[in-house]
Amino acid sequence: MSRLNGKTAIITGAAQGMGAMTARVFIEQGANVVIADILEEKGQALADELGEKARFVKLDITDPEQWEAAVAVAEAMGPLNILVNNAGILVFKPIIEQSMEDFNKVLNINLTGCYNGIRAVIEPMKRAGSGSIVNISSIDGLQAKNSLSAYAASKWGMRGLTKSAAIELGHHKIRVNTVHPGGIDTNMHSTNGEANEEANAFYKNHALPRVGLPVEVANMSAFLASDDASYSTGSEFCVDGGWNAGMALDFLPKS
Ligand code: NAD
Repeated sequence: MSRLNGKTAIITGAAQGMGAMTARVFIEQGANVVIADILEEKGQALADELGEKARFVKLDITDPEQWEAAVAVAEAMGPLNILVNNAGILVFKPIIEQSMEDFNKVLNINLTGCYNGIRAVIEPMKRAGSGSIVNISSIDGLQAKNSLSAYAASKWGMRGLTKSAAIELGHHKIRVNTVHPGGIDTNMHSTNGEANEEANAFYKNHALPRVGLPVEVANMSAFLASDDASYSTGSEFCVDGGWNAGMALDFLPKS
């Protein structure tokens, strides 16, 4: 498939996990990709493996100046049409045990980092003539769990930010959407990053009773980044095995 031919993308948090898989899928579909991350060794190794259409840039998304450098590298590859704000951190802490520093750190990376990215690509995307910004939120941007106050606030915040940006930028042909993954088998999910029976067992009462795969999220991002999604903006796209629909109750019959 070549639906991303001629497009250049910045993908944050792309040294590993979902971001790395998104870089692979985007390149397979024809895009040039800037792999942006704080993990230099892993990011550079992935760029070397992916070849000519990939470049690694060290980017801490909380720093607006570093965004300028990442954008310059992308624009040297081609018109910058795509940003995937994928970098993020997950911290489990009950409110009562959470310091302001803990709380602000999560907000600063997950939400302010995403804002910095949107801000950095507006002029380049105007120059490119159109753009698609894909913000990787979470199932926890649609619901929440205990010990996730900072993470859920950041991921809900990304939704509001996305809608506001979509309304502001639509007339420049820049679309902005959120993707809401459920449980996806990466380091963030399971610490070992490998699909396993234990991971699947947790999802046994979901519509699709298994953990999700990074490629399933990457495919959604590729769709939103492409012109196939030309009339979609300011919206939420779930890749959650039906988690947000509800759960099967064991004491009620199934078909
Ligand atoms: P991961 O931990 O494997 O990857 C996250 C990447 O973000 C890492 O490479 C990390 O170095 C990078 N990163 C962290 N802070 C950064 C910063 N300040 N600047 C630049 N890069 C930074 O996790 P993943 O599972 O691949 O998660 C990707 C995204 O998907 C995250 O936003 C996460 O919240 C979201 N998500 C994950 C799941 C899941 O189950 N894995 C579910 C829902 C949403």
